[in-house]
Amino acid sequence: MRLMHWIGGLPSPPASGGWIEVFEPGTGRAFARVADGNGEDVERAISAASVAWPAWSGLANSERARWLETLASAIEARLEDFARAEARDGGKPLALAREVEIPRAIANLRFYAHAATQFASESHHGQAGLNYTLRLPLGVVATISPWNLPLYLLTWKIAPALAAGNTVVAKPSEVTPLTATMLAELAAEIGFPPGVFNLVHGRGPEVGEPLVTDPRVRAVSFTGSTAVGRRIAGLAAPMLKKVSLELGGKNPTLVFADSDWRAQLDVLVRSAFQNSGQICLCGSRLLVERAVYDAFRDALVERAGALRLGDPLEDGTELGPLVSRQHFDKVMAGIARARDEGARVLCGGVALERPGWFVQPTVLEGLGPDCATNREELFGPVVTLQPFDNDGEALALANACDYGLSASVWTRDLARAHRMAAGLQVGMVWINTWLLRDLRTPFGGSGASGLGREGGLEAMRFFTEPRNVGLKLD
Ligand code: NAP
Repeated sequence: MRLMHWIGGLPSPPASGGWIEVFEPGTGRAFARVADGNGEDVERAISAASVAWPAWSGLANSERARWLETLASAIEARLEDFARAEARDGGKPLALAREVEIPRAIANLRFYAHAATQFASESHHGQAGLNYTLRLPLGVVATISPWNLPLYLLTWKIAPALAAGNTVVAKPSEVTPLTATMLAELAAEIGFPPGVFNLVHGRGPEVGEPLVTDPRVRAVSFTGSTAVGRRIAGLAAPMLKKVSLELGGKNPTLVFADSDWRAQLDVLVRSAFQNSGQICLCGSRLLVERAVYDAFRDALVERAGALRLGDPLEDGTELGPLVSRQHFDKVMAGIARARDEGARVLCGGVALERPGWFVQPTVLEGLGPDCATNREELFGPVVTLQPFDNDGEALALANACDYGLSASVWTRDLARAHRMAAGLQVGMVWINTWLLRDLRTPFGGSGASGLGREGGLEAMRFFTEPRNVGLKLD
């Protein structure tokens, strides 16, 4: 299988003539090759997007909404193909792709189809004449997305960008290029206006950087690691270019003794291990009130050990492999470092003896807040447990980290829940739940977890330029 760029509505081979192998994490075998893009491909894609922009931005909002809705329905009609593709190149359990991730990609497109028709501009009067604020599309924008939720995060970016009247050049991760390519193919199939959505595959430095630095690209929406986010911020800052950075996380889960944790163990286990911990919102630092620490630890270890780890394409699999050899090595090195730091491995800690990149769900204890294991994102099925004695200590442990993406708080005490939500230095807090998403809410983190917010009107604002018009009335 050869996965090409899609530029101006057509498949396009790489200018370099080079291809990158794409591996199936469940077997460790290469099954496809993806275009190894470079600056020349990026140049062509930006030109195509520039040509398409005047007509696309000139459409009525309802017309753009209709295109997004048509694309959403086209994916829905092929949901199973998309789910299988995502399970194949990302290694995620088929059920997760089928029931959560592909439906969410469809929901992203539908949500922003509606947003296109609902987005209103502000007006101000009564103070100094009459002011109204236009919200104008920016032009050509770039999206750069990671491998962990390939279609879900790609659509989360392109949907608001397109709804607001921009044209897009998207760079997905070359590790999981399959569903992005299928999306571009499908867009062409339904007659999406050529050049409005372009796809350039390849590696970050060769494709991502020329996209960020091209002066015709008016904004960059990036989701990925903090290190790459910093690099992109550094490239974009001298150009005074708009960037949105959704970066890593090391999220705390605060379990209080008064919570209903036994009844909610399913959600708590999911929050730790869903997609083998390769979700930026997974809770990898479990902070547990000492009165229930032992009971909670034993229950968690039992459930983690019982998770069905196996072939992502098989029904019944709950956890799949890690996405790549490189990521597998990183996670295994992280576990080895945790042992060196003095962690007790309560379960897991080893790879499965089979082809592919499978790591058993791993629970560690005995590490304090200052060790690297509790400070650095590992992005695998690995969690630590730390006990606390009171609210103040819980909050101090939760905030003892440079990341500030999300947290979950488990308690039946309403006042405590609100106090914790106010004191946690993160962008998103869930109380007695996890990853319950209303797409209208601001999504994003603080500190090393990023800059700016996605979701709802935040994304529509990011992808538009406000222009205020003031009139003298008398
Ligand atoms: P990554 O290495 O930062 O890569 C993300 C994307 O950036 C990929 O498409 C990558 O291409 C590209 N890239 C790499 N170097 C670049 C450069 N110099 N210039 C421009 N683009 C460049 O992240 P990842 O390993 O794919 O994804 C995992 C990370 O994403 C984790 O840290 C996770 O927490 C974070 N994440 C955050 C959120 C959120 O919403 N906050 C959501 C999901 C994931 P290559 O594939 O070629 O490297």
